[in-house]
This record gives sequence, C-alpha cells and structure tokens, in this order.
Amino acid sequence: QLAALSECPEAKVFKVATDLDDSVYTPRTVLSPALIELITEELKLNISFLPQTEQLRPSQRTAAEEPTQTRMPIITVMGHVDHGKTSLLDALRHSNIARGEAGGITQSVAAFQVPLPSADLGNEEEAFATFIDTPGHAAFKAMRANGTVGTDIVVLVVAADDGVMPQTIEAAKLARLASVPIIVAINKCDAPGADPERVRYQLLDQLQLNAEQLGGDVQCVDISAKTGSNLPQLLDAISLQAEMLDLRANLNAPGAGVCLESRIDRALGSVATIVVRNGMLRAGDFLLFQSPKVLRGDLYGRIRGIIASDSERLNEATPGMTVGVIGIKTTIPPGAEVHVVENEKLAKAKSREMLAKNASAVSTINLANSLLAARESEEEQKEAKGNREDEHEAELDHTQSEPEKRKLAVLVKGDVQGSADAVAQCIQSLETADLNIRILGAQVGDVNDMDMKIISTSRQVKDSVEEPIVVAFNVRTKDSAIRTAKRFSIPILTHSIIYHLEDEVKNRISDILSAGR
Ligand code: GDP
Repeated sequence: QLAALSECPEAKVFKVATDLDDSVYTPRTVLSPALIELITEELKLNISFLPQTEQLRPSQRTAAEEPTQTRMPIITVMGHVDHGKTSLLDALRHSNIARGEAGGITQSVAAFQVPLPSADLGNEEEAFATFIDTPGHAAFKAMRANGTVGTDIVVLVVAADDGVMPQTIEAAKLARLASVPIIVAINKCDAPGADPERVRYQLLDQLQLNAEQLGGDVQCVDISAKTGSNLPQLLDAISLQAEMLDLRANLNAPGAGVCLESRIDRALGSVATIVVRNGMLRAGDFLLFQSPKVLRGDLYGRIRGIIASDSERLNEATPGMTVGVIGIKTTIPPGAEVHVVENEKLAKAKSREMLAKNASAVSTINLANSLLAARESEEEQKEAKGNREDEHEAELDHTQSEPEKRKLAVLVKGDVQGSADAVAQCIQSLETADLNIRILGAQVGDVNDMDMKIISTSRQVKDSVEEPIVVAFNVRTKDSAIRTAKRFSIPILTHSIIYHLEDEVKNRISDILSAGR
C-alpha cells in the first residue's frame, strides 16, 4: 500500500524497510507508524498521518490489571563497537568483565541492578534501575534489536574521541523504531582528542538528537567509564527520565514480560532470561510465549525455578527484574512476549490459537515450499528425460550453460538462540554470486551425532556439489560427533569470537571457489 501510495517500486520499499529493521517483511506485515515515518523519510516522501484516537488496546485491560505501583526502569546500553559499552556497564557494576570476556565482546544478554540516586520516584524505598547487557558486534544486530524490546530507556554511548559511527546511527534507529527514549552518554571524555561538543553537533546533524546543552530536549552526559567521572550524573539523568515515563506495574496483574534469550545450561537444563514488566512470575506458573516471527504451536511451559542474574534462587520475580526461568522445555525465540496463563490447558489452547492466526502466513510459506519442491522435481525429471532422449544435445546444452554454482550447507549450533541466529545470519550474508549458502538450522546446544547425521544426509541426498560444514559457536562437540565428522570428512568450525568465525568461513568459501575452478 505504501508503495502504491508513493508510486515507488515495491521492492524499493521492502529494501528500505529491511535495511531499517531486521524483521522479515511479507506483504501481510503491518508496518508500525514509526517505521512508516522512517521509510518515508528515507524515500523523501511527503506523507501525513491522521490523528490517532484510540490508545493501545484499552478495552483489553480489566480494572484489576490497572498499573498502580512504580516499577524500576529497564535500561539498554547501545552504541558503536569500542565506544565503551562494556566498560560503562562494568563501571556501573563495579566488576571487571570488560577484561575477562572472549575477545572483549559482550556476546549474550544478561542484566544487573544499580541503585539510583535518591530522586523522588514516588516511594520511600531505594530505587533501582535494571541494566541489560547488550552485545556489541554488528552481527548481533538481531539480538540487539530484541534488546530494546522490553526496554524503557536506551543509553546511547558515543566515544568523545571518535564521534557518531555507523552502529551509533543504527542503534538510534532501533531505539526510535521501538519508541524508546534515548539518553546520550558521551564517553571517553578523559581521552586525548575528546571533543564532546563536536559529538553533540554530529548527533544533531546526523540523528536529529538535540542535546540539552544545545537547547534541545535530549539528556546528554559527558562521562568517562574509565575514571568514573559523571557516572552519578548519568544515573541522575536515568532517574529523571524514568520519572517522566512514570513506569507503573501492578503486582496483582497476570505476569507479563519479554524473553531476552534462551539457552541450555549444563546443570539447570533450559534457562529462559525474562524481563518482567508487569505482575509477578512464580515457580509453578504456566507461561505462554508469543513471537510473531515464529510459527510454532508449542511456545509454552511451566516454571520449575527462578534464578536471579547472579545464580541466586528466587521464589518470585517482580516488575523490572530480569531473571532466569528454569523448566521451559522448548527453545524460546529472543524478543518473544511472555504471559502467565492460568493452566496448561489454556496455555496449549492459546498457543494453538496463535498458530491458527498465523495460519495464512504458514500456508503461504508451505505453498511456496511445495511449489518450489514441485518445480525442483519437475526440473530433475526433465533433466533425466533429456539425458535419456538426446545425450548429445544434453552434452551440448551442458557445455553452453553457465558453470555450476558451488554450494555450502551450514548447520549452526550456539549457546543461546540469539547468538545461533546471529551467526547464521552472518554466514548467510557471505553468500556471493558464485556460491550459494544454505543454512540447515540454527539451534541451541552442543554438536551431537544427530547434527552430523542431518548434515551428512544433506550432502548425500541433496546435491553432490554441496559442501557441508558445522559451526559450533560457544558450544562443545560430543566425542561421537567428532568421530562421525572424521568418517565423513565434515569440518566442524569451533569458535567463541564472531570475527574469527567469519574469517574462517570466508577462507573456506575461497577454498571451495578455487577448488571449483
Ligand atoms: P564496547 O565495544 O563498546 O563494549 O567497548 P569497551 O568497553 O570494550 O571499550 C573499548 C576500549 O575503550 C577499551 O580499550 C576500553 O579500555 C576503552 N575505554 C572505554 N571507556 C573509556 C573511557 O572512558 N576512557 C578511555 N580513555 N578509554 C575507555
């Protein structure tokens, strides 16, 4: 509709939309007003909106669910790589993770709480803010995009000696798409060459973020994560922003929140990290997960136990907390909405209902898949027939046709769903005109014998020119799988740093391409 209205090719609108946001767009996707605004901005179109009269689904709210208590703000720190996100979180947490991590990059979502200065948040008790640790590499865009879901405030870190960079722009766009207010932290103000004023003008020019110092309304604090200077002022700014947002929750409402990640812990089994936004989560509760991107009818489960971010066991989790929930057997997609439901029957029914709602999308996908399969088998049959009927002609055809495209089949295993998805996305983006990349799956857990079977069958059945590889990101490989890999000569690339993994996959690709010549 947007394409038609703007007399712009549909493909162009799709491209702009996917560049702005990672979500998968189909002709059925309903675009948010914020996204429409950004798309029209990018396409330089003039579109005005009719005023909206209705607030967000008020009719669905019952009196008992009316938000009543102040809840702590949930903060996500975003920004360009090396601008000091990890150092800032580290300084706020008074620990030393910035030095200890693999490659110095934050790779999975966690959270911690920091006491806020005694701003009047409406009650006598000490106020806290929950900080969500977000990943710092472009390949983790998918996860980071979900990091803002369930976030109240984004702290955008910009290095004073480097200025606005591509990931600064991307982070600001993601925050705007999610309608989350931004506080800017100009970091490294202690460094030689630091020029916070220049950064403020860049923010204004490039991102239309008008800092208070320039007369605008965006809070902007000059800090140093290294020396700790002005960190209390940053917390003040957060406290003020939280007050303006008037974040409220009702402990009596059904528990609701957002799933940040789900992973398999060797000792605890499946652990889903959930930010609670309303109500309470308690052991024994049934949870329903809703993700518009996932077409599955099994996104529900029962809480067996709750752990705080420091592995401490809890009986319940209140609004604003980020906790690990144990006992959900299925892997939950990052970014999924979480709702407590009364019982398993209801969870199952609602889950099926959700799937049915998506049925048209499912059937479109199934239809497309079966059409593709039918076309493939038709082509195979034609080929076989041609070979039998006229071998000479077929040979001639073959010599005239394009050289065969090389293919790579990849199975990704990761420690959390978000990183497995991000790795798969990163590898998929390495596809070239000469090499087709087929991702067989992106799953959570160690590489096992079943994985090797899947990938070796793909090689035998699908296509003899397809090279298989298994990628183990932050996970181990079982001994039996190593033996199978050796037997079938299937490489397993084991990495914990995305840059190294990317390099090795690139090397493999150039090997495959040069072998094909
Ligand atoms: P991230 O990639 O955004 O998480 O950035 P890091 O926190 O890993 O920081 C990148 C580099 O900048 C590290 O070498 C830090 O020691 C350095 N750094 C971070 N904050 C500051 C700061 O406030 N001042 C100075 N001088 N260096 C900093």
